[in-house]
Amino acid sequence: MDEVLYGVFAENVRRYLDGIDDGPHQPEELRRLVAAWRALLDLHHPAGRRGRCVGCAESRRHRRAMCNVWRVANAFFIRGAG
Ligand SMILES: [Zn+2]
Repeated sequence: MDEVLYGVFAENVRRYLDGIDDGPHQPEELRRLVAAWRALLDLHHPAGRRGRCVGCAESRRHRRAMCNVWRVANAFFIRGAG
């Protein structure tokens, strides 16, 4: 994934997760879900000259621009298509 594109994309997802995690009265389950997503997305950051995902074997094989983890985050958190 292009580094600039990833930066913008990661910022949008982070803003979304920060938004739902905000406030003192969020249920523990929600906090846990947000924490899990943050950890998961952290493991799937792109790296190297081609910007391939470091956590996805599939991404390495197919050289996808965006790995499946980020595709799911995009669909559910940014596009709201969940
Ligand atoms: Zn990945």
